[in-house]
Amino acid sequence: MNKQIILKKRPIGFPETDTWELQQNKIPEITEGEFLIQNEYISLDPAMRGWINDAKSYIPPVKLGDIMRAGTIGKVIKSKNTSFEVGDIVTGMNGVQQFIITNGKGQFKIQDIGLALPKYLSVLGMPGMTAYFGLLNIGQPKEGETVLVSGAAGAVGSLVGQIAKIKGCKAVGIAGGKEKCDYLIDELGFDQAIDYKADNIWNALKEKCPNGIDVYFDNVGGPILDAALGRINMKARIIICGAISQYNNSEGFYGPKYYINLLVKRARMEGFVVFDYQDKYMEGSRQMAQWMAQGKVKSKEFVVEGIENFYSAFGRLFSGKKKGKLVLKV
Ligand code: NAP
Repeated sequence: MNKQIILKKRPIGFPETDTWELQQNKIPEITEGEFLIQNEYISLDPAMRGWINDAKSYIPPVKLGDIMRAGTIGKVIKSKNTSFEVGDIVTGMNGVQQFIITNGKGQFKIQDIGLALPKYLSVLGMPGMTAYFGLLNIGQPKEGETVLVSGAAGAVGSLVGQIAKIKGCKAVGIAGGKEKCDYLIDELGFDQAIDYKADNIWNALKEKCPNGIDVYFDNVGGPILDAALGRINMKARIIICGAISQYNNSEGFYGPKYYINLLVKRARMEGFVVFDYQDKYMEGSRQMAQWMAQGKVKSKEFVVEGIENFYSAFGRLFSGKKKGKLVLKV
């Protein structure tokens, strides 16, 4: 039997428990050209909240009654496809379910370099590529500049700060709580950390970014984006990667108040979608793997066990009750 998480209704605000339903369905036999993957880990990402809105976006919404969309990694356990053998480790957008039958379209074989599987959904997967291409291509950080990142103890933000350090920048992270702020400095090598839950963000930015902000990698939007806009330098670059503080806002998105500073500072604010860089993932993951091997980049994965725990695990994305990349072991 295949346990699957099905989208049952479109939420307003934070999804309620009946937004999804756990179903069990029989796994059909594979036919010629197909293979069966047993998913081992499911990637839980803030973007999943956006994918269940009935709204136009960079990707169509998940339909009611469909399996919840998610990135996965798993093992081929049966195959009638000449390109995928039993035992191959495969990643794809295979949804929140334990098994999937596929003809190979959209499936990528993982080159096993001896890492735990969740790393391929983390530093070597979509969040790693987001940090790498978002910061380097849009942010274009230069040695000596100040790079500020919000959601800094999360999957993307934690990598952004470390890449900024590799590029010779000062890395300042914004995260919720002292423990996360200590983690940024003591374990990940950030220069400064701001606890947005305890500190006044405007005062903290003044203190921790005394030379202003050259690059702001925005994962949260809302009033934190306002405060960052208030301290940008001439020709600053702001990467709009996400706005997690707004995803469950039933009254609509809070827009930036101080955008006029973009004019004053001749600065640039640019949206970014990682999927646009798909044909360069090999380059990005090779570089991230090399930095990991050299000890320059660390990643943490927070694993929740059991597909039955999908809903409570999903909530951790927004409560912040986790460090690093959130994955579900199924
Ligand atoms: P993540 O690992 O879940 O990290 C997100 C962190 O955001 C949480 O751990 C939480 O930590 C913080 N947060 C939650 N609610 C917040 C709020 N109201 N105000 C401030 N911080 C809040 O997520 P991720 O995978 O790193 O993704 C980070 C952002 O990038 C998200 O907005 C996501 O949608 C976006 N993203 C975009 C792309 C793209 O292609 N554009 C790709 C991947 C991700 P605290 O405890 O610190 O609050």
